[in-house]
Amino acid sequence: MIIDFHTHTFPDAIADKAVSNLAKMGNVTPFNTGKLDDLVKEMDESGIDISVILPVATKPTQSESINEKSKNTDKIIYAGAIHPDNENYEEILDNIKAKGMNVIKLHPDYQGTYFNDPKIVRIIKAAAERDILTVTHAGIDVAYRNDVHCTPDMILEVLDELKGLIEDKLVLAHLGGYELEDEVLEKLIGLPVYMDTAAVLPLYPEKAEEIIKAHGPSKILFATDSPWGKQTEFIKLINQMNLTKEEKDLIFYKNALRLLKIDN
Ligand SMILES: [Zn+2]
Repeated sequence: MIIDFHTHTFPDAIADKAVSNLAKMGNVTPFNTGKLDDLVKEMDESGIDISVILPVATKPTQSESINEKSKNTDKIIYAGAIHPDNENYEEILDNIKAKGMNVIKLHPDYQGTYFNDPKIVRIIKAAAERDILTVTHAGIDVAYRNDVHCTPDMILEVLDELKGLIEDKLVLAHLGGYELEDEVLEKLIGLPVYMDTAAVLPLYPEKAEEIIKAHGPSKILFATDSPWGKQTEFIKLINQMNLTKEEKDLIFYKNALRLLKIDN
């Protein structure tokens, strides 16, 4: 079994435009059209059983409309959308929980808010109180290279502030920090957080393996960032690592099943 913990899709009507704009902004290549049907097709071809889709509310008004449209299936699990400027964040989290979802996604860069801002801290805390896991973009964003909104230092600050409250309730995307691999190794290893493998595996496979081994496979989630990562390529990169079958199983699906509360 394989679960891709970090994917993106866009509504059919705007997918072509959204994917081409994002590709230009970040100078990155999409590996599918960004439409849901196409993601499912790629999953079937790659042997991926479940993908977690992480929608980002780039404006506060989008959160509730995105969440209304998100419908889980056997193969697709949606994270809830929420924006740091949502003053009714507790109500939004309650609605997410009521829909049976137990993950939310934050993207500090696309939401114009630094990770250590009280508006983000209060959401992570309120989510953890509801047994909801927060996935955050971490490290450089390719579209905003000069202004990193979630650095390892900000993560340390938030973990310290919420000490005892959010243990194992936070997932740092991109192995703790996109293109900040050395700083991640220096500052974040062993903390009570999960890290996903989205986007960065093909960029620096050896450093990625070092981070995975240092942090521990029981705290790593297989993820691609589809359409910005190719699912077959990421599977191959994990399989090539010097890890035991049990460690690979944890990364590929066992940790994800536990976090998503899926019985297997
Ligand atoms: Zn992503």
